[in-house]
Amino acid sequence: MALRIEFTANVNKAGYEWREGPPRDGTPKSWKSDFYLYAREPLETEERRPFADDPALFRNMAAMQCTKDRIAGFVGEHGNLHAQIQPVSLSDWDEFLWSLRSLVTIWDCVHERDTTGLANYFTVTPDGRVQNPDTYDGHPVRAEYAWSNWKLDRNVVDGELITVAHDYVLRAINSVLMLQPLSLEESHAAYGFYMYPPHLSEAVWYQFALAIIEGAEYHRCFSCDKVFERGPNANRKSRLYCSDSCRVKAHRVRVNQAREMRKNGKSLRQIAAEFQTDMQTVKRWVNDKGK
Ligand SMILES: [Zn+2]
Repeated sequence: MALRIEFTANVNKAGYEWREGPPRDGTPKSWKSDFYLYAREPLETEERRPFADDPALFRNMAAMQCTKDRIAGFVGEHGNLHAQIQPVSLSDWDEFLWSLRSLVTIWDCVHERDTTGLANYFTVTPDGRVQNPDTYDGHPVRAEYAWSNWKLDRNVVDGELITVAHDYVLRAINSVLMLQPLSLEESHAAYGFYMYPPHLSEAVWYQFALAIIEGAEYHRCFSCDKVFERGPNANRKSRLYCSDSCRVKAHRVRVNQAREMRKNGKSLRQIAAEFQTDMQTVKRWVNDKGK
């Protein structure tokens, strides 16, 4: 069955800038002011497809630091969190990324049956009730736009924490999905469900949901540290790097290191051992004067 996310972001061509402003409702109490990311004039946008461009975007967002530079860079590439022209506050981003990071981590803990990791998010009281100890400025993990008003108050026994956490993630994602349209469409003589999330802040949960459905596997690129999805036919080498350019870059780094080692008097055998390759390859690297 085909399931597709149809999401187009409108990115402001002139970029974005932060302006300091007063705290708002959601600003953490400890912040003296908040910052708001405005689209720069003239307001003229171009279309991007962030989730097609990066099949692991929800994981890369979950790993993202919430700094003004990082967010402005992200928005310049993939668009802002909500409607494109509205300014979005730094605290809004901060809370969004915190929610996403929490739910992705909870999901990974469920997957790895890591009850120690889950204890950071859920605890069981002596009378058998489940509570969320982890909060963002006083309120618990939630998906954007939808307070998870689920009271985790059923009795649990040892080991059931995984079931609770599993249900919690599904419930949080569903709180977004249930508000969005789904459409049955035909494309290239095949029928499928098409999802039309209005904003990036919703679309990201769709991608998370699809990853759960497909049981997608992810790896961290050895070169740039980005998370990427491993295709079903990926071979051993393409599993290490997110892209051809990262693979080439990593190769260049290895070759330069090998040459440096050679200059410092290391033998071909030592270098080959260091890079877990054969001496023939090392010989080619250190003699290659072309590049
Ligand atoms: Zn990479």
